[in-house]
Amino acid sequence: MTTINQSYDSIRQRHVDYMWQLMPEYVNRLRWSRAEIEAEQTRALRSLLDHARMHSPWHKDRLAGINPSTATIADLDKVPPMTKEDLMSNWDSIVTDKRAKLKDANTHLLNLKSDAYFLDEYHVILSGGSSGVRGAFLYDWHGWAVSYISLVRGFNNILMKICDDNKSAIASISAYVASHASSALSHTFSSHINEIAHIPVTLPIDEIVNELNRVRPALLHCFPNILSHLCAEFLDGKLQFNTKAVWCTSEPLLPGDRELTERTLKVPVVNTWSASEVNGGTFPCMSGGGFHISEDVCIIEPVNNHGQLVGRGERADKIYMTNLFNKVMPLIRYEITDQFKVLEGLCPCGSSYLKAEDVLGRTDDLFVYDGNIIVHPLNFYSPLFQEPDIMEFLVRQTEQGADIDIVVTGSPDYNRLEKSIKSNLFQVGLKSSKVNIYPVESIKRSKTGKLKRFVPLAVNKK
Ligand SMILES: [Zn+2]
Repeated sequence: MTTINQSYDSIRQRHVDYMWQLMPEYVNRLRWSRAEIEAEQTRALRSLLDHARMHSPWHKDRLAGINPSTATIADLDKVPPMTKEDLMSNWDSIVTDKRAKLKDANTHLLNLKSDAYFLDEYHVILSGGSSGVRGAFLYDWHGWAVSYISLVRGFNNILMKICDDNKSAIASISAYVASHASSALSHTFSSHINEIAHIPVTLPIDEIVNELNRVRPALLHCFPNILSHLCAEFLDGKLQFNTKAVWCTSEPLLPGDRELTERTLKVPVVNTWSASEVNGGTFPCMSGGGFHISEDVCIIEPVNNHGQLVGRGERADKIYMTNLFNKVMPLIRYEITDQFKVLEGLCPCGSSYLKAEDVLGRTDDLFVYDGNIIVHPLNFYSPLFQEPDIMEFLVRQTEQGADIDIVVTGSPDYNRLEKSIKSNLFQVGLKSSKVNIYPVESIKRSKTGKLKRFVPLAVNKK
């Protein structure tokens, strides 16, 4: 066990070294045959089930119907699925390290100013925001390294070439919050080999463009909802673009945005799906839309609303995801309500990993205020998720700020929350914002049954 009081930098350096030791093997796995992939899935699944049964009181009973030493993927349906609500209500008895408590993890999250270790070896991150329900996820030493590797290994060719050229490799326009996976992972693992220029998506668009022009990255990583803004800046002659590929994660990539970007910036736009529960659960396919499922590190069962497996070529209502690489928080048949469509046949790129179509679904709207001040939803949901007592929320844009409905389980600090959101809005140019926060019993669903978390002013006025 590591001792307390080690400096962040010394722990991080060991972690960077550990990650680079693993990287070649995981890159090599991308060339595996079906038989090799399935053998690893079975091996890792047995190891996970065994560990969960031994060290997680909550999982022990639930795994009674399955024998870890002989289990195969086909046996998984003997294990009941679990939800984010299950996880958050039973957190302390789900995790496999008795020292890790949700209460302490929440305190750790509240005090986060930049990337930091929890108990000197773990990371805690919050939901990315797509479901609007708060979730706190614990990653162990190995799991955090594999998260990063799984995210970037598909770009190995681009990144290795850049290493040779000794240039900055990746620019990431993403969350600049220490509790968000995209920010925390790049903070932990950025090094001289894979230098990551981090550009907060919450900056005004002019500043994002200035940063991109300065950094000139080989690979641009960003949320899809900023693509149309970048294209407009390029057409105005403000953005100089010599990047090799654009890589989208975290939010649904709409076909129109992909098409517009490829036509305007003349680079391939690749997409991956990721979730706070399984960073790097997919890797990009370089031959057209969609992505491959990282089957060596997770099992994804596409199912209908009744929990029955759906066939290839059919769109599922949701997935059950089993994370094979992060044993401190076993997520076994964990429900994620993203609608996967796993494709039939082999991919033209030659990969033996299953391929899925781009996940369609709800996408968060940017709020645009007078003076063309663009505000990313992260400016709201980061402070909202930071408060442990807020379970759900709905943010409605107003002329000068927002009205926010929250469903609470305790007594969140309203002053701190309001101050934190106003400070974010101030930083993106909204100098005197008004933010009202209302506790409500529940958040109403729209007619389609979908939960919309961010309602822009134009819609709000209707
Ligand atoms: Zn492919």
